[in-house]
Amino acid sequence: MTTPSVSDIKEVREITRMERIGAHSHIRGLGIDDSLEPRQVSQGMVGQKKARRAAGLILEMIKEGKIAGRAVLIAGQPGTGKTAIAMGMAQALGQDTPFTSIAGSEIFSLEMSKTEALTQAFRRSIGIRIKEETEIIEGEVVEIQIDRPASGTGAKVGKLTLKTTEMETVYDLGQKMIESLTQEKVQAGDIITIDKATGRITRLGRSFTRARDYDAMGPQTKFVQCPEGELQKRKEVVHTVTLHEIDVINSRTQGFLALFSGDTGEIKSEVRDQINAKVAEWREEGKAEIVPGVLFIDEVHMLDIECFSFLNRALESDMAPVFIMATNRGITRIRGTNYQSPHGIPIDLLDRLLIISTTPYEENEIRQILKIRCEEEDVEMSDEALTVLTKIGKETSLRYSIQLITTANLASKKRKGTEVSIDDIKRVYTLFLDEARSSEFLKEYEQNFLFSEITPTAAGTE
Ligand code: ATP
Repeated sequence: MTTPSVSDIKEVREITRMERIGAHSHIRGLGIDDSLEPRQVSQGMVGQKKARRAAGLILEMIKEGKIAGRAVLIAGQPGTGKTAIAMGMAQALGQDTPFTSIAGSEIFSLEMSKTEALTQAFRRSIGIRIKEETEIIEGEVVEIQIDRPASGTGAKVGKLTLKTTEMETVYDLGQKMIESLTQEKVQAGDIITIDKATGRITRLGRSFTRARDYDAMGPQTKFVQCPEGELQKRKEVVHTVTLHEIDVINSRTQGFLALFSGDTGEIKSEVRDQINAKVAEWREEGKAEIVPGVLFIDEVHMLDIECFSFLNRALESDMAPVFIMATNRGITRIRGTNYQSPHGIPIDLLDRLLIISTTPYEENEIRQILKIRCEEEDVEMSDEALTVLTKIGKETSLRYSIQLITTANLASKKRKGTEVSIDDIKRVYTLFLDEARSSEFLKEYEQNFLFSEITPTAAGTE
């Protein structure tokens, strides 16, 4: 084993830091209390109470398993916290719940068909909790005898005498057992366990008080007194993997390494059928449980009619995850058709959705969100500068004002200031344009840009 050098450690820290300040890294939940009432500011969430209350109710339904076949649409103007609410829901569901987040446009790729991409996204959002039982023998080591046979292969053989309750048993040692004996530095007189399935030997120590150590194993441990008087216990090991991970591991063409590269390509439907059958078998035998996760598709208006009809059908499946979509479009064309509909979603799908709407923020809410973001980014900002930035956020957009925090902080550092001042904000406000000023600039210099001509039919339809 190699020890990491100081530079390695530094690099790891830097990466952790980068992740911490992602766009939604300040969101740690929905910020609601036990009676599903949202607090004004909690877990990084500010305002938007009606939507958060609704999202909290949906979470309850998810937890009680009552959401199958239904889906949620979060609709509202840009920057009103749609993605933030979906993230908050995922955080509140806990670590074991799979959460997949994609943008509608990610479905369109040359590497796989649209329905394959959607199927993968669905299967990434379904967890399978697999339970395995292993048998563990525990006792005191009386004698260890390890021999090296004359063949010169380096392999070792051996015998281990173990005393359990009143009797002594001799075990033939395999290579793996010898390795773990050496690793754990086991000697005569030690209390050890042998995992029958894996052959792994673990040293528990010498001064071993049974009752205390059993308690430490947790409530899932069952003890079985064997007829021969050998002390054994059954231990349950639980793993959660996603259906997609099982697909990839079993897909001959890709192999499990594709899980790391993400280069999974299309997975054959026969592979999936076999896996579904296997999982159904495990469920019947009580070896596995389904953990429905959450699939979040942002910019859902980017999907086309084929995707929507696929989704309509996929939602019928009893293994469907909770499906949350978000859009900032009003009445718009359904891609792949000449029809318009609310949010660009076909009416039959809309009909089965629970719709949550988000509303624009008040000035004090914008101020609060900006303050949280300053803390998240370790930026010191004067009160007056925050007031100016809040005004900018109200007049332009929340996103734009959040962007200015980082840039203004850089400007402040450059002049060796201790906190971001009004002047730093002014400086970056003139350096970086918001959408309205950028459009104005374009209009003024339209003739100087390439491709300024717009055909009336193309404008505003996509
Ligand atoms: P779009 O329609 O453009 O995708 P959106 O509605 O998904 O926008 P978000 O991306 O969620 O908006 O919000 C923009 C930024 O503001 C994000 O950094 C988000 O975390 C933050 N934000 C939005 N609403 C809240 C809120 N209620 N509390 C805390 N932070 C918020």
